[in-house]
Amino acid sequence: MEKPFDIQLERLTGQASYSRPAAMNLASSQERGTFFLETFGCQMNDHDSEKVAGVLLARGYRQVETPEAAGLILYNTCSIREKAVQKVFSRLGEYRTKQVEGKIIGVLGCVAQQEGEAIFERAPWVSLVCGSASYRRLPEMIAQLETGNHRVTGLDTDTDETFETEMTRRDNPFRAYLTIIEGCDKSCSYCVVPYTRGPERSRASDSILREVRQLAELGYSEVQLLGQTVNSYADPTPRKMRFAELLLAAAEVPGIRRVRFTTSHPSDFTADIVQAIDSQPKICDHVHLPAQSGSGKVLREMQRTYTREEYLEKIAMIRGARRPIAITTDIIVGFPGETESDFEQTLSLLDEVRYDSLFSFKYSPRPNTAALRMNDPIPEEEKGRRLAVLQEKQREIQTARNLTLIGETVEVLVSGKSRRENQWSGYTSSHRVVNFTSPAKELLGTYVQARVTGATPNSLVGEHAV
Ligand code: SF4
Repeated sequence: MEKPFDIQLERLTGQASYSRPAAMNLASSQERGTFFLETFGCQMNDHDSEKVAGVLLARGYRQVETPEAAGLILYNTCSIREKAVQKVFSRLGEYRTKQVEGKIIGVLGCVAQQEGEAIFERAPWVSLVCGSASYRRLPEMIAQLETGNHRVTGLDTDTDETFETEMTRRDNPFRAYLTIIEGCDKSCSYCVVPYTRGPERSRASDSILREVRQLAELGYSEVQLLGQTVNSYADPTPRKMRFAELLLAAAEVPGIRRVRFTTSHPSDFTADIVQAIDSQPKICDHVHLPAQSGSGKVLREMQRTYTREEYLEKIAMIRGARRPIAITTDIIVGFPGETESDFEQTLSLLDEVRYDSLFSFKYSPRPNTAALRMNDPIPEEEKGRRLAVLQEKQREIQTARNLTLIGETVEVLVSGKSRRENQWSGYTSSHRVVNFTSPAKELLGTYVQARVTGATPNSLVGEHAV
């Protein structure tokens, strides 16, 4: 039987057993020892924020809902696209006219790593700049600020400190994220990640499996292994566990019912991962395999390390599995030099693969990347047009794929309850959203069978099959 999730949350958040640093110099007694944390970006950032919150809670800090109520205001940032960076600086700009005396304002994550001390010039009210590899040092850095230091930075990237935090406060009561590999050794010409998150570092397999066991004991039945290139995992212990073996070992932990992983790099995607999914139903039937473009020429310019043909061979390998595996992807349109014909090849890739879902973006130049030096002649409105065409095509494909599921029964981990009576929602193993009806009183956190009765491009509609 599933453990009630409110009890798990209590246990996950209730470990504030360490005392706060003695010297405090915050604005008011209500704000003392409180923090506000806003997160931008991907699941890895979400999980980093869970670790930051855990580190602070373990030191006796209390999390509050608004920056106004907090003594410590933290923004965990994303720099993957220019828009995300603008959003962070616009948030910081709000403090230009606000009373911030006595408060500590900190920038964490990728923008911190990318911009470094330049943030102090742009937003002089910021006093803390800290990249993801230095989060364990946060209490020490905050203590330095509280005892009179004006500005503090933590910008090392080549460290595996980030894996082992004394406490992670998990926000999602139904799915636990676990970072198994940090940084990236690839050098895609448009991407800032190798610069902001540093070189690839894999976490020891025994440490990962220990945490999976702890999560299962806390009542989590679904874990998601995270990495920028999760399948490039290279176990640093003498055991040298392969990624596929790690998936199987995590799935064997008593109490674990689903093991997810994201994001996979096509070049490192090997047949044993498909075999693991085939042999162990607890490993989710979903692979996120970013293609980025369907044009061989653009892939070369992007330094993606595979050709269109090689990518399609990986797709064929996944499609050859004994059980159907959902495939999702990322696509960038308007990369420098992408011609209409290159773009059409991306559209034809969509036709050929028929993805279950995709994330699509307009190319945006990033600092410290090779693509920045490329001539970028494609006007913004043309990038916008290509994005709209791509999304419309994908919408048709998704609708058609979801319609084929009508009449089937799928297993749903229930993670949401609608205000409308008898309406619930959750995810399938293949990561499809299912909105379904059930007269049951309480289903959150349980697995139910739902019969699919309808489909939209982004979700399935169903009813509880009892
Ligand atoms: S594989 Fe490429 S796109 Fe992904 S994180 Fe590494 S450099 Fe960036």
